[in-house]
Amino acid sequence: MHKEIAITVDLDGEQYYRKIHGEISENDADVLYEGPAFQRMLDLFLQYNVKATLFVIADDVLRYRTLKENLLSAVELGHEIASHSASHDYGLTKQASSKIFEEVVRSKQILEEELGIQVHGFRAPGYNTSPQVFNALLESGYTYDSSLFSSLPYYFVRRLVLYLYRVIGRKSSSLMGDWRAFGKPGQIPYRIGEQNTQKYWHGLEDVNQARSLREFPIRADMGLFGIPLIGTNIVSWPSWLIRYMCRSQLRQSGLWTVEFHLIDFSGAEDFGLSELGQLQFDAQVPWDDKVHRLSDFFLMLQGYEKKTLGEWNKTLKTKSN
Ligand SMILES: [Zn+2]
Repeated sequence: MHKEIAITVDLDGEQYYRKIHGEISENDADVLYEGPAFQRMLDLFLQYNVKATLFVIADDVLRYRTLKENLLSAVELGHEIASHSASHDYGLTKQASSKIFEEVVRSKQILEEELGIQVHGFRAPGYNTSPQVFNALLESGYTYDSSLFSSLPYYFVRRLVLYLYRVIGRKSSSLMGDWRAFGKPGQIPYRIGEQNTQKYWHGLEDVNQARSLREFPIRADMGLFGIPLIGTNIVSWPSWLIRYMCRSQLRQSGLWTVEFHLIDFSGAEDFGLSELGQLQFDAQVPWDDKVHRLSDFFLMLQGYEKKTLGEWNKTLKTKSN
């Protein structure tokens, strides 16, 4: 049973889902940062012996004391903290290079200072990245990125939803993105160097440069079109289908980078009267139901090697993976 696995979680607060759905939140409270989801996630990881990589929106560590306290417990437990940008601007790639650089550097500094750790990795908001983002990461001392999500079905569903929102006059902060980044990258880790950031979605290149980043694509290669197996469907699709997808993913070679979001560890009851419960289909599943599905999934991964992306980055050989 040899299969390398990395469990990753994007810690997006409730407010970012509201922005996607075109709702501007009036209050500062955040059900995901301040509710039970974080502790439930840590408990599950402890139970199934998972050391995960948590991608954190750095500005929120300064705004939410509960988030900072939870992150300090996560560090104690051996989880890795990485950057999910400073402000989670879905339009990051549309910004000037200087602004991109500032976001990338600021997020690293805040996380390192507030949590007393070293930050090595980055995941872009909304999976949208660009040569400028890679250059900024290379210049500011990151050693890996995990933003590419090569799932065309995801890309087209997102496009469709954004078009529909336009038609009904809802203003979403999400971005269409570049289809090539969703359609072309490899599924297993590869290196991006200073000379090839322009073609970051062409993986499988072995670069030996003074400054290079390892890209860990979020794996999405089920079937012909690349259906992803991520937290969103693990907590809401039929169990038989998830088991089938998981078994077939475990048979593939190369590292499996799995993506979850903090919202996957929340339950419908956490949202109370919030409209998000109606807008986001996976937010309608009660926690009792989700915890069974998640346990089922982590049980299937027992016996396989699960490390943080930071650890895999140190141990993977460049050529073989
Ligand atoms: Zn995010």
